[in-house]
Amino acid sequence: MITHAPAPRGHAPLPHILLLALTAVLAAGLAVAAAAAPARAADDRKCRAGYVGLTFDDGPTPEHTARLLSALRENGVRATLFNIGEKAEKNEELVVAEKEAGMWIANHSWSHPQLTKLPDDGIKSELARTQVLLEEITGTAPVLFRPPYGNTNDTVKEIARGLGMAEILWDVDTRDWSGKSAEEIVEEAVTVQSGEIVLMHDGYDATIEAIPAIMENLRSRALCPGMISPATGKAVEPTDEVATVIP
Ligand SMILES: [Zn+2]
Repeated sequence: MITHAPAPRGHAPLPHILLLALTAVLAAGLAVAAAAAPARAADDRKCRAGYVGLTFDDGPTPEHTARLLSALRENGVRATLFNIGEKAEKNEELVVAEKEAGMWIANHSWSHPQLTKLPDDGIKSELARTQVLLEEITGTAPVLFRPPYGNTNDTVKEIARGLGMAEILWDVDTRDWSGKSAEEIVEEAVTVQSGEIVLMHDGYDATIEAIPAIMENLRSRALCPGMISPATGKAVEPTDEVATVIP
């Protein structure tokens, strides 16, 4: 039994290299932790009243998505985008742009039907096809689903759950689709309270124009845009990192 055999000469420097590498890794980790701590504390103050979920349905659209994403980014908003499968299929690059802009991408069915009027396999196909496509494009399967028109029942909800998604409706309806002005959309949106969800759409200039004033109001109330928890259906502090690289 050899318990104290001397290491061969050629291998002697190896532990030093490992030690140096380990020191570098630790130092990098500490640097990251040191940088993250003040940012986190600042976030706690800024968001002391809690989080709200800003959601935009019915995209992506060649006419509006790029401008919507610019407005969201300029105003420091991460939102949840309920995408329609057949639009995502025609505009894959916009789905990639949504992900790169730090948005959460969710499932809003393939062709926007009244799901409760479809047979079970029709509902399943609407949801599953969208799920597969969005996962193909973004590398992540959505965990949130919103039925078109909010039209749902136990069957729809169960099928969504079976595909790994929580059904999410809304607390505040801005009715931005009905020809409202930006001011009117803001007026509705700012009634949102901590944990609640605001319904808006990807498809209207007035919605995009409303974003700066909505954010100004939220900041004044120490509310921050958050992610929607699939577990509770409430808006919560974001826990994921902004994806900058598409897998
Ligand atoms: Zn819709």
